[in-house]
Amino acid sequence: MTYDEILKHYWGYDDFRGIQREIIESIGAGHDTLGLMPTGGGKSITFQVPALAQEGLCIVVTPLIALMKDQVANLRSRGIKAAAVYSGMRTSEIVTALENCIFGDYKFLYISPERTSSELFLKKIQRVKISFITVDEAHCISQWGHDFRPAYREIRQLRGIFPSVPVLALTATATPEVVKDIQQQLGFARENCFSMSFGRKNLVYVVRHTENKPQELLHILNRMSGSAIVYTLNRKKTKEVCDILLENGITAEYYHAGLSPESKDAKEEAWKSGRARVMVSTNAFGMGIDKPDVRLVVHVDLPSSIEAYFQEAGRAGRDGKDAYAVTLFSRVDRQVVARRLSDNYPSQDFIREIYDEICYYYSMALGDGLNCTFEFSLGDFCKDYRRPTLQTDSALRILTRMGYLEYVEEMEYSSRVRFIVGKDALYRFRGLPADYELLINALLRNYSGLFSDYVFIDERYLSRITKLSRHRMYEIFVSLSNRGLVSYAPSKKCPIITFTRHRVLGSELRFAREVYDERKAIFGERLKAVINYATSDSKCRSRLLLEYFGEKDSDDCRRCDVCVSKRVQGKVIQLGSKEQAVIQLLSDGKPHDIDELSALGLTDSERKQLLRILCDEEKIRIADGKITI
Ligand code: ADP
Ligand code: MG
Repeated sequence: MTYDEILKHYWGYDDFRGIQREIIESIGAGHDTLGLMPTGGGKSITFQVPALAQEGLCIVVTPLIALMKDQVANLRSRGIKAAAVYSGMRTSEIVTALENCIFGDYKFLYISPERTSSELFLKKIQRVKISFITVDEAHCISQWGHDFRPAYREIRQLRGIFPSVPVLALTATATPEVVKDIQQQLGFARENCFSMSFGRKNLVYVVRHTENKPQELLHILNRMSGSAIVYTLNRKKTKEVCDILLENGITAEYYHAGLSPESKDAKEEAWKSGRARVMVSTNAFGMGIDKPDVRLVVHVDLPSSIEAYFQEAGRAGRDGKDAYAVTLFSRVDRQVVARRLSDNYPSQDFIREIYDEICYYYSMALGDGLNCTFEFSLGDFCKDYRRPTLQTDSALRILTRMGYLEYVEEMEYSSRVRFIVGKDALYRFRGLPADYELLINALLRNYSGLFSDYVFIDERYLSRITKLSRHRMYEIFVSLSNRGLVSYAPSKKCPIITFTRHRVLGSELRFAREVYDERKAIFGERLKAVINYATSDSKCRSRLLLEYFGEKDSDDCRRCDVCVSKRVQGKVIQLGSKEQAVIQLLSDGKPHDIDELSALGLTDSERKQLLRILCDEEKIRIADGKITI
């Protein structure tokens, strides 16, 4: 099949979008390729289509387990064989998945970056014919990127094993520096980057300086209609802001990473369906969410990077219709931002102390600990040792980067199901209650490979199509597994700490420049860029953002607050004297014919501009072709 036929056959789309075709042809021809497309631009298609056109298995490295699971389910529902391997899976499951790839003619293997260097994986994968390696969210490999993940560096090992297999790197956020770095880190044979403009013509950027953010937020929401997302800095604030909106008659929900999966689902659903107009959230909300008609994204607190801001604001107006991205800024925000730097990079002494305390906490003797894993509750630990949560959390992340331990904050195991009995036996087992049958049928229709392998299931989706509640589905799965028909591993979530080295003394910890000093400086620079965005009043906001990402030749958007105020100011000076004349003319309070303005020596376009400004400023009114004051 040609690329077009594959697109039509599996996805039903008639045409490629933007630069999809260029990227596909480049990787299809075996060249290392970097594709830069905005979020929602359709990056997945650019590796899925060429992989289906070729022999062999496409390895897809991607950081988020939740998205991995979604994509595997999505491919399977199209009849495409796909599997995933990530930390948290049992070894036996990993082996099954990998054996399936070897013998089962699989097309896609999704894998989290740290897995790519595991021995088991490397041993097994050598027996598979690989078409190419996809690195999604490729900016994570660069320490200049806003989301550096050291595990991404392990991908190089894969390249070592398959030197002639090409790499496709994909990302939606990369400054010119990061674009270069990605290609270097991945060892591109030669530079080869495809990108498109990230400009969003329908998106109007606005910064509002205010000392009363809640009031300003209400004002904005009351003046506009349509679905909205409001971003705040921390979890506590999501609920506070949500309550204020509710008290003022605006339907709203709040969201953050600390909620249970059920309540996250319920809130997301309420917002998506429009029952709640506003979602108030931390940055945990949005990834992978595809709601086209968001009209407004408000940042009540400054985001921590321009990259993050651009992604979050970009969730507005996916349908191409006008939408607004508003940032609220108050004088204290500079201090808030400064504190964020010290919260994210606590002192080295503090980090040494936390390391020692964690070791006491788990009664770890010097020289012990390698590869020991523990469940970890940040809240409990901080209470026991009277430590501030934010800094402690940061200290653990830094210790992870330094290689002393691995702190995985939100380890999410998705639910998995496998039929233990064969198809025949299953059919012999009929006479189960009706809702059991309903669920089993839905599984069989939507997932393949259930009889040979654990399959991730999307319980939200199953619940929607079967109309069974999540709780009822859980009961059925448990009962089916008690009857020995299925093996069911329900989703569960808990943070863990694994010691990746023998215990040393806190005083012996080594802080490499690139994990502490340099990263702290980069973080500071990034915050500075955000402050600069919020406080600049001379450059078009859209241009400022695009220039940050290396697009130097964009035009003024003419619609952001900076452009509008420039235009108004310009005209006021230029038309100032004429304005006086118009007001003079109208000062008798009677309706005047628009044509009378020609007598004041105004050209047609000046007359139009001036009338618009005066109307905007509510100095005049126009009705039925007549102007009144
Ligand atoms: P990204 O990874 O770039 O954020 P996705 O790959 O998730 O974006 O794609 C976003 C949406 O666009 C998906 O719903 C996808 O099916 C759709 N899409 C991608 N390519 C096309 C196309 N050529 N025509 C129509 N829809 C497309
Ligand atoms: Mg994507």
